[in-house]
Amino acid sequence: EVMRGPSGRGERVVVSVRLRPLNEKEISRNDALDWECINDTTIIFKNHLPIPERSMYPSAYTFDRVFRSDSTTREVYEAGAKEVALSVVSGINSSIFAYGQTSSGKTFTMSGITEYTMADIYDHIERHKEREFLLKFSAMEIYNESVRDLLSSDTAPLRLLDDPERGTIVEKLTEETLRDWNHLIELLSLCEAQRQIGETALNETSSRSHQILRLTVESSAREFLGNDNSSVLTSTVNFVDLAGSERASQSLSAGTRLKEGCHINRSLLTLGTVIRKLSKGRSGHIPYRDSKLTRILQSSLGGNAKTAIICTMSPARSHVEQSRNTLLFASCAK
Ligand code: ADP
Ligand code: MG
Repeated sequence: EVMRGPSGRGERVVVSVRLRPLNEKEISRNDALDWECINDTTIIFKNHLPIPERSMYPSAYTFDRVFRSDSTTREVYEAGAKEVALSVVSGINSSIFAYGQTSSGKTFTMSGITEYTMADIYDHIERHKEREFLLKFSAMEIYNESVRDLLSSDTAPLRLLDDPERGTIVEKLTEETLRDWNHLIELLSLCEAQRQIGETALNETSSRSHQILRLTVESSAREFLGNDNSSVLTSTVNFVDLAGSERASQSLSAGTRLKEGCHINRSLLTLGTVIRKLSKGRSGHIPYRDSKLTRILQSSLGGNAKTAIICTMSPARSHVEQSRNTLLFASCAK
């Protein structure tokens, strides 16, 4: 059963759009600004197209939140991710996604959100001394439907196994119990280094891989208070920095030819389908099993889990086609 808010739409998926500022390249070629946030929820296309083409595209899009080019990642976190991410301390699984074309600001946004969430979790732990918390951290990358451990120097692909109790598990994935904040920072930079080593080895950029940082929070009441000890909570929050969305649109337009032997986009396309179905509150078949990404995230998507998607985009005219695709994805997720 999908919760209904005042507007009557499903609220399991919180969808935001963030514009980044023009970058130097865009400024130097005098790129025009195509998009503008006219309030907290609506982004409009400043229509410069010839009249016959105008009617092909909507010129205003409304989401849970839109963020202007001068917004801070702190603002994006507070309004677009915090509530979903922090549900992990109350036993609810969640996933936060950054979606958008390469260089639109996914990693910039997601790394800030990850740190703000972690800081708030540590703050929560400080304020709830009556409970004992255990934090476990793991990190992986999905490239070409192959899963790699980002906390290990072993680059061998990891297998997915189906556990009758726990659902899909990633076999042999390193899981570090966090000692403190510094330990977390150490692990985050290890992930970053591992990701770059992988890129160099494959002569690739991270634009083709998905990164999942995963934090599991376990907590239990410190003192046995006479009632049954059913107060152990375990849940997971996933921070997902997706592959560049231009990959998905390329394979869509190139049709079957590109699909052959090429799984780069399968995860992104399946994610789109899964999220679309979840946001419509549909029961029935949800194709989690069609990709590694959605299999791994299954227990943190749908059901009681909460999802936030932050779609990042360039405001520049030269990226208008990709920006439209991003807004289309965002609209379908609503
Ligand atoms: P992606 O991960 O989508 O490929 P990045 O996050 O790496 O893109 O961003 C590309 C570049 O733009 C980086 O140098 C990043 O620091 C910068 N950038 C992205 N978003 C913003 C923003 N909102 N404000 C300022 N700089 C940004
Ligand atoms: Mg990136």
